[in-house]
Amino acid sequence: MSIIGIDLGTTNSAAAIWQNGQAELIPNRLNEYLTPSVVHISQDGKVLVGRAAQERLLTHPNATASVFKRYMGTDRQLTLAKKTYSAPELSAFVLKSLKEDAENYLGEAVTEAVISVPAYFNNIQRKATILAGELAGLKVERLINEPTAAAIAYGLHEKPEHTQFIVLDLGGGTFDVSIMEYFEGVLEVHASAGDNYLGGEDFTGILVSKFLSTLHLNKTQLNPHELQLVQAQMEQAKRQFNQADVIKVEPFLKAQKETISLYKEDFIKLSEPLWQRLQRPIETALRDAKLKPADLDEVILVGGATRMQYFRSLIAKMFRRVPSANLDPDLVVAMGASIQAGLKARDQALEDMVLTDVCPYSLGVGTYNENDHLSTQGDLFSPIIERNTVIPCSRMSAYYTVNDNQTKLNLEFFQGEHRLVKNNISLGQLEVRLPKAKRGEEGVTVRLSYDVNGVLEVDVEVISTGEKHYKMILNTPSQLNEQDIAASKAKLSALKFHPREQEMNLALLARAERLYEGRLGDQREAVLRAIRWFESILEQQDPSAIGEAQTEFSQFLDTIEQDRLF
Ligand code: AMP
Repeated sequence: MSIIGIDLGTTNSAAAIWQNGQAELIPNRLNEYLTPSVVHISQDGKVLVGRAAQERLLTHPNATASVFKRYMGTDRQLTLAKKTYSAPELSAFVLKSLKEDAENYLGEAVTEAVISVPAYFNNIQRKATILAGELAGLKVERLINEPTAAAIAYGLHEKPEHTQFIVLDLGGGTFDVSIMEYFEGVLEVHASAGDNYLGGEDFTGILVSKFLSTLHLNKTQLNPHELQLVQAQMEQAKRQFNQADVIKVEPFLKAQKETISLYKEDFIKLSEPLWQRLQRPIETALRDAKLKPADLDEVILVGGATRMQYFRSLIAKMFRRVPSANLDPDLVVAMGASIQAGLKARDQALEDMVLTDVCPYSLGVGTYNENDHLSTQGDLFSPIIERNTVIPCSRMSAYYTVNDNQTKLNLEFFQGEHRLVKNNISLGQLEVRLPKAKRGEEGVTVRLSYDVNGVLEVDVEVISTGEKHYKMILNTPSQLNEQDIAASKAKLSALKFHPREQEMNLALLARAERLYEGRLGDQREAVLRAIRWFESILEQQDPSAIGEAQTEFSQFLDTIEQDRLF
C-alpha cells in the first residue's frame, strides 16, 4: 500500500509518490501537476476543485473559495452556495481530489499521506490539517514542515556531515524564510521569519503601474476585463524579463495606440523597495539563528516567484553562492513529502522538529482607508504583532484621529494576513472617548500581548490624558469532538463530485463562461456560439469527437483571451 506525499498549498497543491527509488509527481485529471487550491460548490451541491473551480472565482464569487489555508486552525466559516464550510472541510475537498488522482494514476486505493505544513504552523493548525486529511478519507501518517520537505528533495538528509542551510520560499503573496540544520538524522528549523504581504504578485503590480502610467491611465479608468488583460500581459512581461532586457507590448487596449517598450532596468529600479523588503526577513532569520551568510552550506529556493532571475542574482550576491534551484520550485515540497512518505514506509523516517513557538497569525487593528473613495474596500489592517513572532510577545503602536473634534475612536481587533480588514477575522472591539482637538492631535497607544495559551490582551492608553482601557480576548478556536467530526463527514458525503472524465470539459466551459461575462458584442456572441457547439458535441458522447473538440475549443478561447480575433 502506497503512502503519497502532498503539498497542500495556499494557491496550489500537488502530490507525489516514492516509486522505483525516486520521487514521481502525480498528474491530476487535467494532466497537470499543480492543482489550484480552489473549491466551487454549485446550488445543487456538486463540488469542483482545481482549475475548473479557479475559473469560477470571477464569475461565481459567492460559490467559490480560495486561500482558505490562511484560516486553518480558526473558527472562521466560509459560505458557499448558502452553506458554511470550515477551512479543514474545504481543504478536505482538495485532498480528496488529489487522492482520486493518485488512485487513478497508481491503479490502487490510496488511504495514507504525508502532508506538508508551513514551519510556523502551531499545534492547532497542525491538528486542523490532520482533520482535513481524515475528512478526505486519508490517514495522515505524519506532517512535514515545508522547508524540511524542500531540503529532503534536494537530498540534504543524505549528507554525512552536519549541514546548515536556508530555505527561501517566495510564492504569489508571501515570503517565508527558514534556517535549518541537519545533524545525525534530525532536521531542525532554527529560525523562521517572513513577510505576509510580499510575493510575486507585488512585482507584477509594479509593472502594471508602470504600464498604466506610461499610457497616462489609472486603474479606475479600466473595466474589470481590461484590468485583467493588463494583469495577464504584465505577468507575462515579468517572466520574459528572465531572458530579455526589453519587452515590446503591442496595442491590446482601446486606449493604447502604439507599441510600448518596457525595460528590465526600469523594472528592477522600480522594484527597489520590494528587493529591500526581501532582505529584512532574511536578516531577521540569520540574526535569530546567530549565523552569518558565510556559515550556510546551501541556499534552497521554493515558490514560483524565485524564478525571477534578478531575485536569484541578488540572493547569489548576498550569500556568495549560487542557490540550489535545479528542481521545480513549485513542486519541490510535494516531492520532499513523498520522499518522507517513502522513508516512513521503510521505517526510516527523518525527525523533523520546530524549536520555536510562534504566533501563527498577524494581529492588529483596523484603520481608516484614505484611498477608499468609492467605499468598496473598507478599513485597512494595521498589523501590530506580525505573524511568526516568537511568543509570548507584546508590541505597541500609536493611532491618531482622522477628523477635527473627533471624540470617539472605535478600535476593532483582527487576526489575518490580508491588507483589508474585511478579509481578516474580527476578534473584538473597544470604544475609546477622546478630548476634542484638531485631527491627528489626539490619539491612543495600543499594546497587544499574546501568550502561549492563545490569550490576547489589549491595553489602550489615551496619549493626552493617560486614561487606560483593557480587554482580554481568548483566541483559541473551539476544539472539535468526535460528534462534530462525524457531522462534518456526513455533510461532505452529501455532496457529489463531478465525474473525473468530465472535469476537462467543465474547466473549458467555466473558462468560456468567464470570457462571456467579460466581453460584449461580437466577441460575446462568438463565445456563446462556441459554448453551444461544444455542448452539442458533449451530448453525442463520442470520446474521440470530444477529444478533438476540446483542443479546438481551447484554442478558440486562447484567441479570445488574447483579444486578437477581431
Ligand atoms: P506560487 O504561489 O509558488 O505558485 O508562486 C506564484 C508566483 O510565482 C506568481 O507571482 C508568479 O508570477 C510567479 N512566477 C511563476 N513563474 C515565474 C517565472 N518564470 N518568472 C517569474 N515569476 C514567476
